[in-house]
Amino acid sequence: MTGHYLIFGPPAAGKGTQAASFKEHLGVPHISTGDMFRAHLKGDTAIGLQVKDILAAGKLVPDTVTNAMVAERLAEADTAQGALLDGFPRNVLQASWLDGYLAGRGTKLAGVVVLRVPEDELKERLISRAEKENRSDDADPEVVQRRLDTYREQSEPCIAYYLDQAIVPVHEVDGVGSIDEVRQRIQGAVR
Ligand code: AMP
Repeated sequence: MTGHYLIFGPPAAGKGTQAASFKEHLGVPHISTGDMFRAHLKGDTAIGLQVKDILAAGKLVPDTVTNAMVAERLAEADTAQGALLDGFPRNVLQASWLDGYLAGRGTKLAGVVVLRVPEDELKERLISRAEKENRSDDADPEVVQRRLDTYREQSEPCIAYYLDQAIVPVHEVDGVGSIDEVRQRIQGAVR
């Protein structure tokens, strides 16, 4: 089951939660660009300083910064057999960059899992996550709306990009239900 997979979907669709079991199922490391940026913020690194205001506003970090960070991570030894990417790509240019990067390594994506959750439910989840995880980009309704709009306008077109190419299997999974139900749907879809 190893290879490079994406777990794709809007903010609060459950990508991070599901990635925890899905990466075990696949036997590859989980790479979350959102987690990586938050670690840079915490560590006060140069990238952290560069992206602080962008994350707080719910906008996308420039592709040059994001792609370079992903390239560096994908060059590490633990991803030799593949990786589960979460939060990347976020737009069609990143998707096409990733295709080129993987082609350069003589490989391509093995599968894309798209988590589908209605927008009303996403908003409720984002509000309760702000309370639980103290994530400032979840707390402000305006920022939450911007992130949902950014997903619809810039990220969702990646699904059409993969469907048009018809090179990688795209598995659309209902993301509403218990963690265990969604886990089973994902593993059933990618079999
Ligand atoms: P996430 O945890 O995936 O919702 O990401 C949190 C924030 O990190 C996003 O709102 C963006 O500001 C930034 N981010 C994460 N992944 C990307 C990406 N692939 N491209 C640009 N910005 C990103």
